[in-house]
Amino acid sequence: MTTRSIIMKKMDRGEADEIVIFLSRDKGWLTGVAKNSRKSRVRFGGHLEPFCVVDIVIRSRRKDNMVWIDEAHMVKGFLRIRENMELLARASYFLELSSGLLPEGQADPEVFDLLEKILEGLDKSTSGSIEFLVLEIRLLALLGYQPVFDNCPMCGKGFSASNDIIFSPWAGGLCHKTCLKESSSINVSVSPATVVALCHALNPDSRLAGRIKLSRSAQTEIRRSLSALVRYIRGKDLKSLKFMEEVGYI
Ligand SMILES: [Zn+2]
Repeated sequence: MTTRSIIMKKMDRGEADEIVIFLSRDKGWLTGVAKNSRKSRVRFGGHLEPFCVVDIVIRSRRKDNMVWIDEAHMVKGFLRIRENMELLARASYFLELSSGLLPEGQADPEVFDLLEKILEGLDKSTSGSIEFLVLEIRLLALLGYQPVFDNCPMCGKGFSASNDIIFSPWAGGLCHKTCLKESSSINVSVSPATVVALCHALNPDSRLAGRIKLSRSAQTEIRRSLSALVRYIRGKDLKSLKFMEEVGYI
């Protein structure tokens, strides 16, 4: 069968083969063996490159969970992403995030389409950081981990300008400080102004959505909240996230 796919990474195997990890729209995350791919320009033509959207012809293998990759044809090359270290790191993060939260072999076309949209946005760099934060929150929602920003999950009430507000990865969202019994080193303080701006940005019906400007400190608060949440739900660090922090991309 032919399935539209996004390549995450590939590794050499032996003299001529490659192992490719990719997200297919129809079968979810798969690991494939591309036999003779480093020699056959006809069947592969150098199209199995990370971050590309590719139509891949796959066939099941009897001996393991991997598939055979028989052919690959480039649909979108995203050259800018592949040539720019920061864009590459950001694209890696979105792929690493979804590969960790979507089980292998489980198809999710909505996740696929959103990832493709994110890669397109990165490649054109038409979106600012707030758009990518919103897209990340949408991706987390599709993967079943929607963070809650409008009401405190502990008491169900909203927030006011006089509240001390804490993002708790354990509670899965923003909480009143007084509702959390214990403090935790992974909690993040978030200002009421950030909460108001973020809720507007996330509300598709808001007249302000798409025109929201977030201050540097607000963006930092949201970024730190999402990073803490992602690490909490993965139960470990993400290589791409750690790298972006170390080099100062986020
Ligand atoms: Zn509360």
